[in-house]
Amino acid sequence: MAERSFVEEVKKLRLGEGEVFRGEGILAVTKALLESGVSYVAGYQGAPISHLMDVLADAQDILAEHGIRFENSASEATAAATLAASVNYPMRGAVTFKGPVGVNVASDALANLASGGVTGGALVIVGEDYGEGSSIMQERSHAFAMKSQIWLLDPRPNLPSIVKAVKDGFELSEASHTPVMLMLRIRACHVHGHFIAGANRTAAFTTGDAVDAPRRDTARIALPPATYAHEQEKITERWPAAVRFIEDRGLNEFFGDDGEGELGIIVQGGNYNALLRALERLGLADAYGRSTIPLYVMNVAYPVVPGEITRFCTGKRAVLLVEEGQPNFLEQNLATVLRQADLQTALHGKDFLAMAGEYTSAEVLKGTRAFLEHYGRIERQAPPVRVPKVIPIAATNAAAGMAPSGVDGAPEPAAMPAPLADVVHGRPPGFCTGCPERPIFSAMKLVERELGPHHVSADIGCHLFSILPPFHIGNTTMGYGLGSAGASAFSAASGKRAIAMMGDGGFWHNGLTSGVANAVFNRSDNLTIVVDNNYTSATGGQDLLSSRATNPTRSTGHAIEQAVRGVGVRWVKTMRRTYDVAGMRDALREALTTTEKGPKVLIAQSECQLNRQRRIKPQIKKAIAAGERVVRERFGVDSDTCTGDHSCIRLSGCPSLSIKPNPDPLRTDPVATVLDSCVGCGVCGEVSHAAVLCPSFYKARIVTNPSGWDRFAARVRSAVIGWLQRRDARARARLAF
Ligand code: SF4
Ligand code: SF4
Repeated sequence: MAERSFVEEVKKLRLGEGEVFRGEGILAVTKALLESGVSYVAGYQGAPISHLMDVLADAQDILAEHGIRFENSASEATAAATLAASVNYPMRGAVTFKGPVGVNVASDALANLASGGVTGGALVIVGEDYGEGSSIMQERSHAFAMKSQIWLLDPRPNLPSIVKAVKDGFELSEASHTPVMLMLRIRACHVHGHFIAGANRTAAFTTGDAVDAPRRDTARIALPPATYAHEQEKITERWPAAVRFIEDRGLNEFFGDDGEGELGIIVQGGNYNALLRALERLGLADAYGRSTIPLYVMNVAYPVVPGEITRFCTGKRAVLLVEEGQPNFLEQNLATVLRQADLQTALHGKDFLAMAGEYTSAEVLKGTRAFLEHYGRIERQAPPVRVPKVIPIAATNAAAGMAPSGVDGAPEPAAMPAPLADVVHGRPPGFCTGCPERPIFSAMKLVERELGPHHVSADIGCHLFSILPPFHIGNTTMGYGLGSAGASAFSAASGKRAIAMMGDGGFWHNGLTSGVANAVFNRSDNLTIVVDNNYTSATGGQDLLSSRATNPTRSTGHAIEQAVRGVGVRWVKTMRRTYDVAGMRDALREALTTTEKGPKVLIAQSECQLNRQRRIKPQIKKAIAAGERVVRERFGVDSDTCTGDHSCIRLSGCPSLSIKPNPDPLRTDPVATVLDSCVGCGVCGEVSHAAVLCPSFYKARIVTNPSGWDRFAARVRSAVIGWLQRRDARARARLAF
């Protein structure tokens, strides 16, 4: 296993009643699950909740002590379907995955679960991957909550509030017989803090009890006519029960509301910290939450509690709603509530705040300031002074300690910051140093030279970086594991095959059936390349079915080739070493030109370099400390023979392959160079060989704790090299003469 290890941190999960728990939000969620008496947990990793899965994996002994079943689900749909255990039995269960893409995948199971309702508390912990730093399309899980009538919690991002939300979530679920989503935004997942722990609880009813005494209730199955009854039940019983519970238990919070203020702010719990910071900057609150502007904090984003909205707005001239993301579901909902209550309070939201995008502190400050200025609560600021744009040369001057010049030649203030976009290059994401996926795309570029461009259907995973420079490969991506399905319409008899990419994570997630089996059934002629790097690398390096490592709690070592043959693919080839660029090129050429009909599958194997380094670095360190002989390989470029055309960089893109000034004073082009971060994968050398670029690459072996033989061999080598260099120098001197 190579995912982040929480072995030390999970010891905190044993803290008892009254002890102080300190740590990360994700770990606090696990502790809250233990204190809530869950019978089972499951999930599928993905930012920002990958660490929650890693914590659960590392905490399996503690979970087992409390009889809790833990599942590493095959997909988010599998995880959501696991909650079926709470439909008939009084068992609490929690599942986790990222939102909203994970919720997209899980939506079928979630809709079925929500239709029939639950007996035991069912909690879906959704890591909301929204805003700067997100890796996915920008949408809201809120839409799914509304569509299926699943309650949505969005707690204030601090540990006590998050822990409380977990416990409230189970109780709300049981009180309203409805599954509950707990939305954890990126920042909430990684927030650090402390809370007073409670005792861990062992569930009174376990999954074993359920299996021993099965129960069924056809009224809870999503099948007509029960589905019609479910819809009515949702509206007439479960929804009102939820609203009552939220109100009675005070899940939403009011701050600074003494009924006097004529202005107020309504905020989603998850945006509370950003709002408080904005109010603090405006001198209207302190860091401890004391606000002079009344606040209504919606820790429950759905359902809205009309009574609380009308109570907060009554007597107020205007309220501002801080609702991140679009569409503005809450704003629409609140407008309806106010209209139906015939309240004349003006409702503002995205007229002062951004329609779309993350509500950073700066954005919330801007919108809140505008709202308060508009109603005269704070002084209107003078319009910002227009700062002339600083051109890059000015930034260069500033970096050199010279004052930049203004447009009219007058000196500008030295402290004026240059706009970042002018001086900092955009940095598209790319493969890690030594990534085994890079040579696959280098080989594809080489084949492209021979056969021309192909339509490439990309997939989610590290390999998606190939759509960016320097490779420029990949036309579309439709979702995790859907690379092959995304190429299915191109199974046309055009004489040219479409290429589909898929990672091993996507393959086991759904690609085997949605892509490969679908291609067999539809007699596709396309090529699918499955990148088999041992882990679900993009989500943090978790093991999966085909991982080669032995996992003490999971079954690994199930070959992708066998699975592919099992669903009927006849042309299957496994490349055991992607770093062999010429071999990859030949295999690709064969797959694209063979006369054999039917889908082709090329499995490209090599271990994810990031995980490999995590695995071997401690081993190397230990061996060196123990005085053992350790050999590491590094590559280099001979500056004397490098022509400076940089074609190796264009065909590789390794971050460790860079440029440096040409040491030859007669040549101005910078030469290629290999940085110290090189891990010695050899791809740059392989590429230059396969593409017949140049002979400049060399391999060096760094020997730590050398043996007597190593020292002797080094002395002989340096003597021979010295003699050759002296002879060469003499020859040059004669020529010059
Ligand atoms: S995490 Fe692994 S597979 Fe992903 S880019 Fe880095 S080395 Fe490559
Ligand atoms: S050998 Fe070349 S491609 Fe591999 S890590 Fe080093 S510089 Fe990068």
